[in-house]
Amino acid sequence: MSRVYNFSAGPAVLPEEVLREAQEEMLDYRGCGMSVMEMSHRSKLFGDLLHETQEDLRKLMQIPDDYQILFLQGGASLQFSMIPMNLMKNRVADYIVTGQWAKKAWQEAQKYGQANKIASSEDKMFSYIPDCSDLPVSKDADYVYICENNTIYGTKFRKLPDTKGKPLVADVSSCFLSEPVQVSDYGIIYGGVQKNIGPAGMVISIIRKDLITDEVMEFTPTMMKFKTHADADSMYNTPNCYCIYMCGKVFKWILRTGGLAAMKERNEAKAKVLYDFLDASEMFRGTVAREDRSLMNVPFVTGDKELDARFVKEAEAAGFVNLKGHRTVGGMRASIYNAMPMQGVEELVAFMKEFEEANK
Ligand SMILES: *Cc1c(COP(=O)(O)O)cnc(C)c1O
Repeated sequence: MSRVYNFSAGPAVLPEEVLREAQEEMLDYRGCGMSVMEMSHRSKLFGDLLHETQEDLRKLMQIPDDYQILFLQGGASLQFSMIPMNLMKNRVADYIVTGQWAKKAWQEAQKYGQANKIASSEDKMFSYIPDCSDLPVSKDADYVYICENNTIYGTKFRKLPDTKGKPLVADVSSCFLSEPVQVSDYGIIYGGVQKNIGPAGMVISIIRKDLITDEVMEFTPTMMKFKTHADADSMYNTPNCYCIYMCGKVFKWILRTGGLAAMKERNEAKAKVLYDFLDASEMFRGTVAREDRSLMNVPFVTGDKELDARFVKEAEAAGFVNLKGHRTVGGMRASIYNAMPMQGVEELVAFMKEFEEANK
């Protein structure tokens, strides 16, 4: 068996320890003689697992009691519709468009009401975060929406926008659990888990309880009402049981390795190794504004498409996989999520140095 260094943007690398635990429990979870995949979601064993997983997440993120944790399906993309259907009481919402995912969310919201684009960085290919300290927030906006870490472009909000009292809704798919957050700054904080937490197929949405109501758009399907899932504690229908189990293992892994503060330190140290190299290199360079750089997704280019392609190919042969940039951007992108060890980043940088030397 040999593991590669996997720089995929998602689904992405998981901690090896967690994969080994799952392997050990595959045929017999805690002496029950079956896998979590085969178990009734109504069994006591699964109910305990679900609650333990919620409690661990609450501990990890210090989620206040007036927030509900929901485990939902349909990926982050289904939230692009669920959020307006549940929150747009005045049929007005403000969107800050800093990348493809924010843009998709904004476009989807237009189906349900007036979705205003109050700031954007599309003028410079989404390579920066606009100043959000004094935006023209609509008086009757039901919420202000951001994508906090832009997976494709590699930018991150260092400071949350001033929403002028409106609830902030944030897609944190690609920076979930990468650093401590103040949950009370948000109305909804949500993300697909396949970037930084677990396998694909689930989204975790942490919602301030007053935003979970019966007053939704009249055509909202039962399955798309937050209240349906909140009332049933994420068990209205069969949840993604195995994914919940895997996420729970990752929560425990983060808890025992020091929690989110320690995670942030490790992520900053890893990102620094890569960004310092990009800043010093004569061949490679990062593509976004320094002050807005993501700790998780690091896009870079050589400036020569053929050289980029050769780099990706040679890197893959050397065991550094999934470094090709997003199809809309080109170049390279190294996603260095929580589970990417420092050694992976150091070895990648060493490989980049060698490549630069050999191709001067
Ligand atoms: C990947 C991603 C999505 C889409 O997630 P799906 O689960 O595939 O719907 C949405 N937002 C962000 C920021 C992402 O990185």
